[in-house]
Amino acid sequence: MGIKRQYLLIGVLLSILMPTVSYGKFTIEIPVRVKLFIDGEEVSSSKGKTFTRENPAQFDQTIAVIEEASTDDLNRAVDLAREVFDKDKYGWVTNYRQRLRILYKTAEILREEAERIAVTVALENGMPIRQARAHVLAAAEIFEFYAGLADKVYGDSIVLSNGNVSLIFKEPVGVVAAVSPWNFPMTQAARKIAPALAAGCTVVWKPASYTPMSAMEIYRALAKAGLPKGVVNVIYGPGATVGNELVRHPRIDYVSFTGETTTGKLIMQQAAASIKRIGLELGGKNPGIVFDDASIEEAVRAIVFGGLRNTGQACGAISRVLVHESVHEKLVNRLAEVAKGLVIGYPLDDNTDMGPLVSKAQEEKVLGYIDFGKKAGFKVALDGGKLSGGIYDKGYFVSPVIFDDVDPKSRLAQEEIFGPVIAVIPFKTEQEAIEIANNVIYGLTASIFTKDPARALRVARKLQAGTVWINDAYTQPTEGIWGGYKQSGIGRELGLYGLEEFLEIKQVYVDTTGSLDRPHWRTVMKIDKL
Ligand code: NAD
Repeated sequence: MGIKRQYLLIGVLLSILMPTVSYGKFTIEIPVRVKLFIDGEEVSSSKGKTFTRENPAQFDQTIAVIEEASTDDLNRAVDLAREVFDKDKYGWVTNYRQRLRILYKTAEILREEAERIAVTVALENGMPIRQARAHVLAAAEIFEFYAGLADKVYGDSIVLSNGNVSLIFKEPVGVVAAVSPWNFPMTQAARKIAPALAAGCTVVWKPASYTPMSAMEIYRALAKAGLPKGVVNVIYGPGATVGNELVRHPRIDYVSFTGETTTGKLIMQQAAASIKRIGLELGGKNPGIVFDDASIEEAVRAIVFGGLRNTGQACGAISRVLVHESVHEKLVNRLAEVAKGLVIGYPLDDNTDMGPLVSKAQEEKVLGYIDFGKKAGFKVALDGGKLSGGIYDKGYFVSPVIFDDVDPKSRLAQEEIFGPVIAVIPFKTEQEAIEIANNVIYGLTASIFTKDPARALRVARKLQAGTVWINDAYTQPTEGIWGGYKQSGIGRELGLYGLEEFLEIKQVYVDTTGSLDRPHWRTVMKIDKL
């Protein structure tokens, strides 16, 4: 009995000294130490600087201590990636079979470890565990997809009318700076890193500071899969300093950025100095258009899934619902009812549909918009906002708010909120719906709900959006594409187009005649007479 009590005491002491987070068979000792990943090694900051990440569902709990990259660390990371690329070290640029095998293996590791990694994603992002699981598997699928493309970077050849040959080669763009956001930390990173590696590029990656552990899972999977040293280097730190130094770095060839439109604008301006290639995946203010013949139940489920998953912190989220006046009331009532039924809770609870927002700053931003909407006098179809009591007191929990009859020109209908706030806007005609849908600076996604296929396609053609769903929302095949019109970005991720982003195209013109008398020379200059 005495011994048992001793063990109990040691257990209690250990749990105080070394707190843990548990889910199922997984226990994570916190805070997790997250290091920089440079030259294939996990290393500390050369300046000894660190920062912390709190659990968004329990903000008095520090879940990670992260090494912050100094300028020296950053330069080293870029130099190493540069060296591997420029010298074709390990045959990285030329040996596509090696790249194929490593990418497949990475996918396999992520899939095998998905359950455990999902716990990490849920913990640091606040994403409910059911969704986090699917999220990790989606990232594995992206690595697998691009593994399959690594040996299919085909060029082209043209036999010209003069008998000569034009060869079109596709070559890796070089050293890539990947800067990723926190909202879907695994897939957003995979969409950059997997195609960049398939193409034969090398990468310096700065993940978002809120989700350092997800990034660590990816670089560990890559390392375990046999990635040669220096091909991918990972640095952490604030976007405004470390991130910005990276994207401005003169030895970087291509910047692949996902984040806010305002940050994208800054990066684009800075890239102009050296005409650096860029890919930008930015914000959205995406409409879901419900026509009078739509299945209201289908539309409501799609809007709740597409608008409120990840607590609305999703670039492609439906944040404006445009509804025909004849079904307006029916739709709003049912939408409010379904949204109200969502379980808002701890991310590591299997019943949770919506977790907390990612941070205090995000919470303040979202509550600011809710406050604005109420003060502006818009009808409130579902009242929500900051939750309190029990676990809610220690996390950034905000329940959905649905505003009705919103002025399409108001901030609520124009600006990206990135939270569980939906603006409903009634319309009378198809033309009016298209105009309202397009009348924002963004153009990422749109959804159309109708049973009329001709109307669906007609409207889809007129919408300024990179993805248009018909009778669905936020369903993204890896084989498809992702990217925005207008201020939602430049370039495309996923699918075949997502690989092209990381390729330069070179023409090699071959004279096959060997003749000194070339008609095109002779026409312009009398060289043969000189
Ligand atoms: P953010 O722009 O604040 O940060 C994104 C990343 O850029 C982070 O890693 C950050 O540290 C870094 N960063 C910040 N300032 C920088 C600077 N000046 N120079 C270089 N790097 C900098 O965005 P966020 O809050 O992390 O993410 C949310 C935004 O991302 C939303 O606007 C959302 O719509 C957008 N997003 C877009 C897509 C898409 O595919 N279009 C996908 C996910 C998220």
